[in-house]
Amino acid sequence: MNEDNIPEFPLQTEIAIIGAGAAGLMAAITAARLGARVHVFDGAKKVGAKIIVSGGSRCNVTNVAVAPARFHGEGAPAFVSRILRAYSPDLTRKFFEEIGVPLKLEETGKYFPVSDSSRQVLGALLHTMHRAGAVLCSETDVSALEPDPETDGWKLETSRGPVFARTVILATGGLALPKSGSNGRGHNFARALGHTIISTTPALTPLLTNDVHYPLVSGITMPVRLRLHAGNDARSSKKIVTYEGSFLFTHRGFSGPVALNISRHFAHHRPTSANATIFLSLLPDVADGEEARWWHEFVGKSAKKTVFNALGTLFSTKLTNVIMARAGLIGSLPLGRLSKTQNEALKRELFYAPMDVFDVAPYDKAETTAGGIALAEIEPATMQSRLHKGLFFAGEVCDVDGELGGFNFQWAWSSGVVAGRAATHLSR
Ligand SMILES: Cc1cc2nc3c(=O)[nH]c(=O)nc-3n(C[C@H](O)[C@H](O)[C@H](O)COP(=O)(O)OP(=O)(O)OC[C@H]3O[C@@H](n4cnc5c(N)ncnc54)[C@H](O)[C@@H]3O)c2cc1C
Repeated sequence: MNEDNIPEFPLQTEIAIIGAGAAGLMAAITAARLGARVHVFDGAKKVGAKIIVSGGSRCNVTNVAVAPARFHGEGAPAFVSRILRAYSPDLTRKFFEEIGVPLKLEETGKYFPVSDSSRQVLGALLHTMHRAGAVLCSETDVSALEPDPETDGWKLETSRGPVFARTVILATGGLALPKSGSNGRGHNFARALGHTIISTTPALTPLLTNDVHYPLVSGITMPVRLRLHAGNDARSSKKIVTYEGSFLFTHRGFSGPVALNISRHFAHHRPTSANATIFLSLLPDVADGEEARWWHEFVGKSAKKTVFNALGTLFSTKLTNVIMARAGLIGSLPLGRLSKTQNEALKRELFYAPMDVFDVAPYDKAETTAGGIALAEIEPATMQSRLHKGLFFAGEVCDVDGELGGFNFQWAWSSGVVAGRAATHLSR
């Protein structure tokens, strides 16, 4: 060992873990506790950058409503369901309690550490990993990964020298927040080894708009319903997905949980449906199909009011002005005297306003990556590659992206444990 406790290279180990993020650390703790000789390699000087920035530096560890349907990717719900059964959110909460990080449940369904400190989460994970006997090699960039026919194991090229391992867990993350060290090289390793990489896009990222009116209300947060349709006509095109919840207008577009959640679907469908459109309902309490009845009653009650005053009972002045501008209406018109076209324009703005989203914000604004290593080529009982014995995957590098609220960490913890257990059994 040298002064940083980094061992001498070339190095031989049982399990080499590439990436000391949430998934890699959890895999390391699991395997080392089961008695395996484990080394974790990470290019970063200070590991766990994403844990530190997560949840507004509070780290949203998991959610009360973790369910397979909240995870996306090709075949993700069925695959994630197996992994969650192997290591459940319940066990996750117990694990954090046991390592000295009790969690609290907030009204939103999110679990945070009682301390509200992501540093405490990272500190406890690193401490637990060291105590279990796993060795962390920080500032150790892995540049190549290949099977080693001589040892029937794996050979890694690293910035400190070669590593020979019985098994490898690839936990290099995806492409989100590239300055953290996750820049897609894990996908390159897997691709070079014959794995399919499902095309990647930023996910849980803001939406960017060309609309000139909405940015005027930037800063306003409100509950809305967003619907993604395959086309630009809400009545005739297929609806792909709906989200309801909190939403934020920004200078360049839209953010808040519902906008972030729908971003991966928009980015995914746009290449095949060029007209894919997100429609905004500013009145999410009005149920699907109830809009015409609600509007009829609203006009009946407020017929004598001006459009401005009638809308003013529902929305702030700024937003009312934006709604009228987008509908092309003058606010002084009495609501009951609108033409059919004007009525339709106003209804559209309230219930099915096309948001003119032209893209999603890039990876440096995204919380996770959609796409990644194809799940069809991973064995769900073990997270082992179906193409290569002794190669395991965990976390964001796989084609799984969860919704906002602790789902991505839950995937990282659970897949990390499954990979760590299985790699240990195989290394023996
Ligand atoms: C701003 C932000 C806030 C978030 N908040 C939350 C939240 O509150 N709750 C939640 O559930 N999720 C949250 N997420 C998502 C969550 O952080 C990720 O899903 C999770 O951290 C992924 O873990 P991972 O271990 O798979 O990958 P990462 O955390 O990306 O770790 C991968 C590691 O691999 C290393 N690495 C990559 N390539 C190499 C290489 N070639 N050689 C050596 N090392 C390499 C990287 O340096 C990195 O340390 C947030 C994400 C962001 C960006």
